[in-house]
Amino acid sequence: MVLAVSQVSESETRPGPRRVAGSSAPAARAFQADRFLQFIDVKKSYDHKTLVVKGFSLDVAEGEFITLLGPSGSGKTTILMLLAGFESVTGGEIQINGTPITRLAPYKRNIGMVFQNYALFPHMSVVENLAYPLKVRNLDRRDIDSRVEEYLSLVELSGFGNRHPAQLSGGQRQRVALARALIFEPSLVLMDEPLGALDKKLREQMQFEITRLHSKLGFTVIYVTHDQTEALTMSDRVAVFNDGVVQQCATPDVLYEQPENAFVADFIGENNLIPGTVAEIAGDRVRVTLAGGQEVLTQRGDVSGTGTDCIVSVRPEKMFIKPSDHAYDSEITACFIVRHYVGDFIRYYFELPDGSEVTIKVLNDLAAPKFDEGQNAQLIWQASDCFAFRAT
Ligand code: ADP
Ligand code: MG
Repeated sequence: MVLAVSQVSESETRPGPRRVAGSSAPAARAFQADRFLQFIDVKKSYDHKTLVVKGFSLDVAEGEFITLLGPSGSGKTTILMLLAGFESVTGGEIQINGTPITRLAPYKRNIGMVFQNYALFPHMSVVENLAYPLKVRNLDRRDIDSRVEEYLSLVELSGFGNRHPAQLSGGQRQRVALARALIFEPSLVLMDEPLGALDKKLREQMQFEITRLHSKLGFTVIYVTHDQTEALTMSDRVAVFNDGVVQQCATPDVLYEQPENAFVADFIGENNLIPGTVAEIAGDRVRVTLAGGQEVLTQRGDVSGTGTDCIVSVRPEKMFIKPSDHAYDSEITACFIVRHYVGDFIRYYFELPDGSEVTIKVLNDLAAPKFDEGQNAQLIWQASDCFAFRAT
């Protein structure tokens, strides 16, 4: 189950940001607040041969909630380990408030952590677990008691203080872990797939809990997940990772609506990815000949030049079936395969002349059309809802 490891700090001289009731904006920003945490061309190799982090640069503002999102093995945990000080960088530097921390021992970094694979101290009560990070920081007994009460109440576990971890549900244990990572008021909190072990309902509840505490207390979060819905709903910004490289770092809406390459378009949400060749580039518009011979108009993604292979990307909710009231500037013929009733929408599957498949989501109302298998349909969309990306 999920667990918190609180780093030991030598003193309480640098408390975390003070809380701001009802606001996600930190009260007073320190100098260089938009560069509270900086990764500068950070590289990591475990075997002195291959880099698993290949030059990672990112500026994080104080109070920001940043998520590293990427497939398994893409280097997310490694970056948290470098930041926490459990692994050393192979190249580059990490700075907090302009001061390099790359050579600082982990316990001097004063970072709170919630990881999936560390346990609460099983032989200690909830109160003792929460008091631990304060004891090692030499707070006096009265301050410890009141702080423990305060954080128990923050995670809605007042009255559970005398229980041991084994007497709590998974979600409750996780709230204790969260409180233990926050109780010494670190300005920076790292979370590595903290909700990975929970079922869907509990996970959504904890997502809400974590963002609520983040808004209330104003600490900075570096969060790691491979779950894109979790990343989009919780974060101020998301860095999409693949193979040790940031593919794009942006707010959730920009990632969804303006992906910069085919990987991000495919990884964030759902997209139809249709192969083609660039026929013409004119400003930010691209004319593409699809592999099946049909021509469409798109926005310019990262395609390099005419004649090159590309991927046309259109979201299932941005494609429509004719007849339709929607304006369009691309139209293709496709062959109907099957329609699936999902409830609030209906999903249609079509095949294009080159054999590639596209799916369309249509709101479930009386206008949702019916086709026979093998029947041709006209699919339409606007160039502004569509991108041409370099084929990878
Ligand atoms: P993620 O968290 O995105 O799944 P990791 O950072 O755990 O990715 O791993 C990135 C790459 O580094 C993987 O290929 C993994 O096998 C390798 N790796 C991770 N930790 C170690 C380690 N301690 N020693 C050697 N290789 C490691
Ligand atoms: Mg990991």
